[in-house]
Amino acid sequence: MLSRKVGLKFRDMSISSIGSAEPATGALTRIREVVGPKGWIDRPEDLEPFLIEERGRFHGRCLAVVRPADTAEVAAVVRSCWAAAIPLVPHGGNTGLVGGGVPDGGIVLSTARLNRIRNTDHANRAMTVEAGVILADVQAAAEQAGLLFPLSLAAEGSCQIGGNLATNAGGVTVVRYGNARDLVLGLEVVLPDGRIWNGLRALRKDNTGYDLKHLFLGSEGTLGIITAAVLKLFARPRATATALVAIPTPAAAIALLDRVQDACGDALTAFELLSRPAVTFCCRHIAGIADPFAEPHPWYVLVHLTSPRAGDSLTEALEAVLGDGLEQEIVVDAVIAQNEGQVAELWRLRESIPEAQKPEGGSIKNDVSVPVSRVPEFLERATAAVEAAMSGIRVVAFGHVGDGNIHFNLSQPVGVDRDAFLAEWDRFDRIVADIATDLGGSFSAEHGVGRLKRSDMARYKDPVELDLMRTLKRGLDPAGIMNPGKLIVDG
Ligand SMILES: Cc1cc2nc3c(=O)[nH]c(=O)nc-3n(C[C@H](O)[C@H](O)[C@H](O)COP(=O)(O)OP(=O)(O)OC[C@H]3O[C@@H](n4cnc5c(N)ncnc54)[C@H](O)[C@@H]3O)c2cc1C
Repeated sequence: MLSRKVGLKFRDMSISSIGSAEPATGALTRIREVVGPKGWIDRPEDLEPFLIEERGRFHGRCLAVVRPADTAEVAAVVRSCWAAAIPLVPHGGNTGLVGGGVPDGGIVLSTARLNRIRNTDHANRAMTVEAGVILADVQAAAEQAGLLFPLSLAAEGSCQIGGNLATNAGGVTVVRYGNARDLVLGLEVVLPDGRIWNGLRALRKDNTGYDLKHLFLGSEGTLGIITAAVLKLFARPRATATALVAIPTPAAAIALLDRVQDACGDALTAFELLSRPAVTFCCRHIAGIADPFAEPHPWYVLVHLTSPRAGDSLTEALEAVLGDGLEQEIVVDAVIAQNEGQVAELWRLRESIPEAQKPEGGSIKNDVSVPVSRVPEFLERATAAVEAAMSGIRVVAFGHVGDGNIHFNLSQPVGVDRDAFLAEWDRFDRIVADIATDLGGSFSAEHGVGRLKRSDMARYKDPVELDLMRTLKRGLDPAGIMNPGKLIVDG
């Protein structure tokens, strides 16, 4: 029964490019034996959650979902897929936003059962975790060890560390700790042919040739399956200071960033921009959120400082910078959190923006970056361009301005049809990405490429860089079984 059903479905799949292969039905039977009943899903209603993603822009299809229990089982599954040329899509917490985990045939490999913390080495400030550990659980395990794993993003309760590394996730602390790729000492990866690369070295210095882990970090599952990683840990913050600062212009945000960096050094842990429409939407739609200021202001930054030294007077340092800022007219007003509850309230305002946009109708999302110094120019040019392209469009800009990364989201004009507005996604994506890249920026700062932005690769990437990427892909995965159709397409 299994083989008859699978045979029918398999003929539907467009995998002709993959070349000669042993019959898929035999491979699927073997894979099912490898993972056992706990690791095999093929009922259509159970497959459904693996075929969609958060923003609902894609709907996929697959033969089955497998949930291997350990690295050896992952390797056995991949070996069978390699032999039978069955496409394989790695699946973590499914919080990705570019369709990278949505399958178009083949098998989905979920890392949910690879959820062990293998080792914590306090003296080495390192922790070895399996790919399926939820990011919030990684943070909690580090905290239990008296240390900090600093990667932090709004999806941390559901995304998995494997997905974070495969997408080189960013989040709110990049200005201090870097992206996910900066937080990794070693990796374990199952390669497209099923071999296991054990690169789980916990070394801070290792000058022995190509640093292969960086091939897989940010590769969105197209070069192999990350099964475990050695993560860097840091001292826990023991002093903090957080302020929401009202500013007149984006240029003032960059001027203030410069001054905070000069005065506070690496205590600067997050520096987030919020536009007035973003704050208005939060106050209008999110229960318990009220404007922290008596008057509306056009722009705000959320500044967060931390230090591992309990006695550090960060609040005084921040007050001094903000006081200077007032005199220099780059700061209009500020609220400084007095306790943990107020810190959480200010962060809630920032984190609620995507949710607050939903009741306002269709929203076209963007995730671009430019050199920090060019953020004001980007915002000015991009706002003028989208407003010229559609009257009444509402720019809801916010994001990690300390890294030059702006979520330049666009809410539909009031009263227009939601679907008609969303149908314009590609046009606006192009307008915004053209300006960002013209300013030396990137069309995808932190969400990756996936399926959504793969055509942008051809438009914006240097041809030599694209050729190098394709050479790597062909070298490691000549049959193209690993997450086909994502990130780079051949041609
Ligand atoms: C509310 C919200 C806020 C977000 N905020 C941020 C943010 O601030 N910064 C940011 O960078 N992203 C953000 N994201 C996007 C998303 O959370 C990240 O991309 C996250 O790192 C994805 O992890 P995941 O486990 O959900 O991966 P998935 O969505 O399951 O997969 C993402 C991609 O990685 C591949 N993949 C997954 N696991 C593996 C593995 N073990 N080996 C190889 N490939 C694998 C998949 O095939 C897919 O291509 C946000 C998303 C949401 C919903």
